[in-house]
Amino acid sequence: MAKRDYYEILGVSRDASPEEIKKAYRKTAIKFHPDKNPDNPDAEDQFKEAAEAYEVLGDAEKRQRYDRFGHDGMRGGAGGFGGGGSMSMDDIFSQFGDIFGGSGSPFESFFGGGGGGRSSRQRQGSNLRIKLKLTLDEIAHGVEKKIKVKRYTTCDTCSGNGSENGTALRTCSTCNGSGQTRKVVNTMLGQMVSANTCGNCGGEGKIVDERCGTCKGEGRNLEEEVIPVKIPEGVGEGIQLSMSGKGNVPKRGGVPGDLLIVIEEKEDEYLKRDGTNIVFDLHISLIDAALGTSIEVPTIDGKVKIKIDPGTQSGKILRLRGKGIQDLNGYGKGDQLIHVNVWTPKTLSSEEKRTLESLRDAPNFQPQPSKGDKSFFERMKEFF
Ligand SMILES: [Zn+2]
Ligand SMILES: [Zn+2]
Repeated sequence: MAKRDYYEILGVSRDASPEEIKKAYRKTAIKFHPDKNPDNPDAEDQFKEAAEAYEVLGDAEKRQRYDRFGHDGMRGGAGGFGGGGSMSMDDIFSQFGDIFGGSGSPFESFFGGGGGGRSSRQRQGSNLRIKLKLTLDEIAHGVEKKIKVKRYTTCDTCSGNGSENGTALRTCSTCNGSGQTRKVVNTMLGQMVSANTCGNCGGEGKIVDERCGTCKGEGRNLEEEVIPVKIPEGVGEGIQLSMSGKGNVPKRGGVPGDLLIVIEEKEDEYLKRDGTNIVFDLHISLIDAALGTSIEVPTIDGKVKIKIDPGTQSGKILRLRGKGIQDLNGYGKGDQLIHVNVWTPKTLSSEEKRTLESLRDAPNFQPQPSKGDKSFFERMKEFF
């Protein structure tokens, strides 16, 4: 089934502000909250759909990617990035903290408690964060990398519950499986109930009688994994890509965290990046500048021959259209700007000296800037 447009789901325009998106989501979430719609079987789907849309549009980075790549850019798993995809109810409820302010599930106050099974929220494993250094070439063209990570994955022997051969766990008798012990305390303000993490089960509500030998009862093992990652073209220093579900699995079951990939740029020897443009400093000889020539320059797509017109002045900027970096927001590719520097010889043989001396007073060798020539400042402005 084709996915609906996230903007359409939330009923906002494509240029809606983050505040508008948040507001629209809050409205939609309240409208379709399953507890509020017991007779509407579609409500839960619509509720989930809205949460998924907000997960993307509520995050500046994910929203950019969605604007550019659509749903394709949001696919999780190998080669894709991002939230979207398959959010569990627990993911959705954990999202509410920042939507409604405060912590926990505000729906309890909205809908009079009764979250039922949802109070035993699935635990989420920790995120993994790695740095990935990319060359300019990789940034310019996008690249598929195989990233080696050490991450906690579900133990195969016990299927993650931590007990020998994966036999069912025993419910903790101290807390009756709730993971909490409650105590009524008399205070100056009257009786209060204090809830503490159950000491018998460590808050898990379950007891492992015989620990799995493979994972020592943790339900997870540290494994080395090679994860293929598709890096889109145009990423830059400090950009963070996330692959959902590729982080650590928590102890004894739950949802894995995310793998966060932070991009670092390796500096190129010749080509400097300036946003989506590439800047190259070209040095040509006095003679080539005067007589004109054609010369090879490096670009992100290999060498390109460019023409230097006779009478080229130092400081001229040439533009190779489209030889820059793809804009991540979908504004197209930048250009390569070639900054022409005329090289003045630093040492001369006596013969060279004589030749140049004979030209010293030649009329055409006298500087003749004309009024129409643009200043350096004006030329720069044209390009940026
Ligand atoms: Zn307990
Ligand atoms: Zn195990």
